[in-house]
Amino acid sequence: MASKTIFQKIIEKEIPSEFIYEDDLCIVINDINPQAPLHLLIIPKKPLSKLSDAQEKDLNLLGHLMLVAGNMSRKFNVEDAFNIVINNGEKAGQTVFHLHIHLLAGNKKLNLPK
Ligand code: AMP
Repeated sequence: MASKTIFQKIIEKEIPSEFIYEDDLCIVINDINPQAPLHLLIIPKKPLSKLSDAQEKDLNLLGHLMLVAGNMSRKFNVEDAFNIVINNGEKAGQTVFHLHIHLLAGNKKLNLPK
């Protein structure tokens, strides 16, 4: 069996981390190395390695993660200006092989051109 990722250890509380939000399907934590004033990670409890491994049966989970992203944007009053990023695969910069959504806000450089 593959060894647990850092996120699996956080989910299972083997490694301490402050949960900003938790429900049956996911957790939300602050990124340890923030790339913007607000940098959250929305992490499913199901250990999917990457988005491209998701299947039809994960439809509800993927939708849920998006809804949580929207909820978090309202919680932190950034609902009018945030970016979400999913790095998929090593060559795309993925370093933790447990699917996660980055939610970044408060950095003008990240705003897409109009
Ligand atoms: P990615 O490069 O898309 O796989 O993103 C992994 C992210 O996890 C990076 O932005 C890291 O800064 C972040 N990270 C790694 N370890 C931790 C940790 N213990 N707590 C919070 N964030 C972490």
